[in-house]
Amino acid sequence: MSFRKDTYDAIVQAIAPQQATLVAVSKTKPLQDILDAYQHGVRDFGENYVQELVDKHASLPQDIRWHFIGHLQSNKVKYIAPFVHLIHGVDSEKLLLAIDKEGKKQNRIIQCLLQVHIAQEESKFGFDAQTLLDMLSKYNPVNLAEGTELKNVKIIGLMGMASFTTDESIIDKEFKTLKRIFDAAKTYQSSFCTMNVLSMGMSSDYSMALANGSNLIRVGSLLFGERTHSSS
Ligand SMILES: *Cc1c(COP(=O)(O)O)cnc(C)c1O
Repeated sequence: MSFRKDTYDAIVQAIAPQQATLVAVSKTKPLQDILDAYQHGVRDFGENYVQELVDKHASLPQDIRWHFIGHLQSNKVKYIAPFVHLIHGVDSEKLLLAIDKEGKKQNRIIQCLLQVHIAQEESKFGFDAQTLLDMLSKYNPVNLAEGTELKNVKIIGLMGMASFTTDESIIDKEFKTLKRIFDAAKTYQSSFCTMNVLSMGMSSDYSMALANGSNLIRVGSLLFGERTHSSS
């Protein structure tokens, strides 16, 4: 299976009115598929596994914007900190602090999204709404002593994944919940946090996500074909 240009073009057209971003999720896919997409003009790619991302980054054009969309362990942040464009799945305070620390070492400000738990499944990672808002308040620079601010990590929005179900009413409800939390979080804007990016929607549900205010969709199988294996 290779990169489906026509599908890509159709989705780009569909999201243009909302000025949304399409991230091409290339996890488990070979370099050649990514290069085909790159030659077609794609620059935003999403990956889930640290080692796979590090290898691909080393082998592919340097102007690619790499989105880390998987579950990230604090002790692995250092491998992607030098180059990652956006980390979507920040789901703990510990991870946020680790990203700040590695950002400092790299002399960069690493952009992040906080992951919100909206699905019914226990297994999906993320904050509940109150914990998330409490954290935004805690790390708001106005509430911190000078010198203790997180200067090398910046939260620019939220990310969420709906339940794995064919019941669209459940997915719609979960997307509405995430949008509501996104709007609530806007009252915590600061130099540490701006709520600009709402990352929600994948191959099966991106239309519904856009209808509910998403401005970044993460699409894999529609663009590259079904994944036949997992790399981890
Ligand atoms: C794999 C993955 C996607 C893409 O899923 P598709 O159904 O193939 O579009 C999007 N977001 C996350 C977090 C993923 O892990």
